[in-house]
Amino acid sequence: MTQVSDRLASLSPSETLAMSQKSQELKAQGVDVINLSVGEPDFFTPDHIKEAAKKAIDDNFSFYSPVPGYMDLRKAIVDKLKRENDLDYTADQIIVSGGAKQSVCNVLLCVVGPGDEVIVPAPYWVSYVEMVKLAEGKNVIVEAGIEQDFKITPAQLEAAITPRTKALILCSPSNPTGSVYSREELKGLAEVLAKHPNIVVIADEIYEHINYVGRHESIAQFPEVKDQVAIINGVSKAYAMTGWRIGFVAAPLWIAKACNKLQGQYTSGPSSIAQKASVAAFAGDQSCVEEMRIAFQRRRDLVVDLCKDIPGMKLNVPQGAFYLFPEVDSYYGKSFGDRRINDAGDLAMYLLEEGHVATVGGTAFGAPKCLRFSYATSDENLIEAIARIKKALAALK
Ligand code: PMP
Ligand code: GLU
Repeated sequence: MTQVSDRLASLSPSETLAMSQKSQELKAQGVDVINLSVGEPDFFTPDHIKEAAKKAIDDNFSFYSPVPGYMDLRKAIVDKLKRENDLDYTADQIIVSGGAKQSVCNVLLCVVGPGDEVIVPAPYWVSYVEMVKLAEGKNVIVEAGIEQDFKITPAQLEAAITPRTKALILCSPSNPTGSVYSREELKGLAEVLAKHPNIVVIADEIYEHINYVGRHESIAQFPEVKDQVAIINGVSKAYAMTGWRIGFVAAPLWIAKACNKLQGQYTSGPSSIAQKASVAAFAGDQSCVEEMRIAFQRRRDLVVDLCKDIPGMKLNVPQGAFYLFPEVDSYYGKSFGDRRINDAGDLAMYLLEEGHVATVGGTAFGAPKCLRFSYATSDENLIEAIARIKKALAALK
């Protein structure tokens, strides 16, 4: 009998991608579904980036790139980190991969071994805990509820650390909550981490530019922990380039070298054409980033306003990313005809099948009371989607 490995058998499929696929299937059957499930900008990639890709094709960038990425791209990333974050890195500390997703997984596979503990604040992005499982590590979940704006405190971090702790995964601005750690909050966490120099902080900053409270703050800015931090970032969200698949890690040399070695046996360098486009993204005109950020902020205000009066829905006001993550557990136990809603998954499925709006249940994010809406879609879609959600929720008795 053919059988997948234990490693694969214990892996859960990505809920964000699964819901998006379901919504596309319903759409293909002619159902008018509004998709608030997958998290990706609805904008087209800016023209100057597309032009750079076309030029790369004409200039015959058709050969394997160096495993860690082209030097001009790594230099553009070094310049970006200096210009935008005031952080000093050298090009050999940058490894470019096939999306930030691969960059996170690379770092986990490079530093986590069987039984090593990885602290994952919940709510978390769905893939973190599955990647830790792939690395045969142990997830140590630290809960941060809506009452603490979904952010962990230094005391909670300290209490979760054991001699087996290998890494912490910190995501700010956060998917799924939209919460943003302030400089002071990061400083508090850094003080704890500095006492444990063997812990690697995987700082997922992919939503850096989708921030409504001002300048992005990276935990790598604190010299006492900089040598412990692996910054993850990329072009997917800031430059509307999800399909191009370029992400990077900026890390201490030993981690960068390890990622390079892993990638050399596993994927090689990412797409040559997408890398050249990413040089244009990082080094070119940045006004597109601000234009998209402003649009996301307007939509954030719109969805918060539309949702705040929905009875039984508890909201925080997200400060970044493009997700709303309300608590909806007051609807659990209610029914629509003979359809009973027991949990977040049931509610998301009910909203999809009866309300024709795709969302993602919070369970996959470690927050079973919540539901995630991505508001990276048009105002028109948002107004219609929230009206449908409101109506479908009101029909639950
Ligand atoms: N981290 C977080 C928190 C994300 O939401 C995403 C989006 N899927 C990623 C990483 C991966 O981004 P990429 O498209 O660059 O792989
Ligand atoms: N970051 C997006 C999301 O959370 C993309 C889907 C994925 O890669 O999981 O919806």
